[in-house]
Amino acid sequence: MAITDDVLVIGGGLAGATAALAATETAPDARVRLVTAKQSTLRHASGLIDVLGYAPGSEDHGHEQGQKQKPIVDPFAELDTLPTGHPYERVGGEAVRDALEFFDDIAGDAYAGGHTDKNALVPTHGGTVKPTARYPAATADGLASDDRDALLVGFETLPDFEAPLAAAHLEAAGAPFDARGVTLSFPGIVRDDAKVTRYAHLLDRNERVASEAGAGEIGAREALAAAVEPHLEDEPRVGFPAIVGDDRPAAVRESLADALGVDIFEVPMGPPSLPGLRLEDLLYAALENAGVRVTSGVPVVDYETADGAIDHVIVDRNGAEIPHEAAQYVLATGGLVGKGIESGRERVSEPLFDCHVPHASDRYDWFVDDVFGEQPYARFGLAPDRELRPLDANDDPEFRNLRAAGAVLGGYDYAAEKSGAGVSLATGYVAGTRAGEESE
Ligand SMILES: Cc1cc2nc3c(=O)[nH]c(=O)nc-3n(C[C@H](O)[C@H](O)[C@H](O)COP(=O)(O)OP(=O)(O)OC[C@H]3O[C@@H](n4cnc5c(N)ncnc54)[C@H](O)[C@@H]3O)c2cc1C
Repeated sequence: MAITDDVLVIGGGLAGATAALAATETAPDARVRLVTAKQSTLRHASGLIDVLGYAPGSEDHGHEQGQKQKPIVDPFAELDTLPTGHPYERVGGEAVRDALEFFDDIAGDAYAGGHTDKNALVPTHGGTVKPTARYPAATADGLASDDRDALLVGFETLPDFEAPLAAAHLEAAGAPFDARGVTLSFPGIVRDDAKVTRYAHLLDRNERVASEAGAGEIGAREALAAAVEPHLEDEPRVGFPAIVGDDRPAAVRESLADALGVDIFEVPMGPPSLPGLRLEDLLYAALENAGVRVTSGVPVVDYETADGAIDHVIVDRNGAEIPHEAAQYVLATGGLVGKGIESGRERVSEPLFDCHVPHASDRYDWFVDDVFGEQPYARFGLAPDRELRPLDANDDPEFRNLRAAGAVLGGYDYAAEKSGAGVSLATGYVAGTRAGEESE
């Protein structure tokens, strides 16, 4: 007997979670299920919601190679200028706006940036500045457009964030404030292989650690504030790498802010990323609240069709093949990183439904020699119609009840454009909404 739902979303990253949430909002009585194989790219990503940071195809794209980068000020003003086939062109500018509003409702106070169409400029751990549309509340006091001076605090055991170097880079990049950086040892951490969650949990739980002043044990929050305090001149804000709390980040920031009399902010870090994990937690809590049935750790491995539509898919549950049937399906299995798109020596393919992936037949045309050049492979993915149904080589929908969302789609280079999360949100929102509408 098949497990039967109205909408089945395959893939549990930002695109899949958004699609499942949009489907339940559109069709509150529909049974919506999300099936996902492994961890998504959320825990590697910065937790920032980039919509469009750099114009695609321009020489000034966002690779971090040089001086010619011109970040986009208002991403919404650029959406109409995108080439045919770009995911934003497919869904249209209004849908991008609607998707961002949908995200703002889900994220509530956890995210900021919705007050303006303009990109915020967020300092990164390397000292560059990134244009982004939405950022975690923990980042809000760190914006590079803010002219208040800043002290950046790094830790000996977290070499990915070299605070003095990041401060120097920010000043060299023309930030409108003075930045200084210091490197300290983190109270209670001696091992340089401690996980980022260990730092965060010490602060969440305010665990007892040895006081530097030799006054026995004190709470980790007080110990951290005491370590920073002698380095503070008159800066009104202090930035830490993104380890300031996992379950209770707002409370930890407040304790540090009270103890130091300054505003506290986090600088987004590379993988594994606590802001990415927090975003994942937020989305999965929303899925649970919305009544979406989530099955994790199980891949969809096969499918059967009937009359040009997907009849059911096969889910591999510890070697047992379980048929899952739905009226509508959303494919959100990720891109080359998430293995939703695969590249072999001869061919680029979508491994589950074998949907058509447009690409040059000569593999030497898949890339260009200039490492900072526009790489054709970065745009590999499915080419959908405006309903986000993947199209075959004749431009006909592969299956009438299959839509695709997120990094499995082609026609954009998320790393160069800084558009990854925005495309996942917009296409997840549209695919989920349409699937919900047609499931009824
Ligand atoms: C290191 C890194 C940093 C990034 N930083 C940023 C950033 O700063 N800002 C930004 O906006 N974007 C960033 N991105 C891009 C952004 O994370 C992605 O573009 C986007 O979120 C992709 O989401 P997705 O849901 O389409 O795919 P994914 O996150 O890849 O999720 C796909 C999911 O599908 C599952 N899956 C795959 N195959 C199957 C199957 N057969 N059956 C069931 N499940 C399956 C996978 O296990 C996975 O859980 C970054 C990406 C990476 C890799």
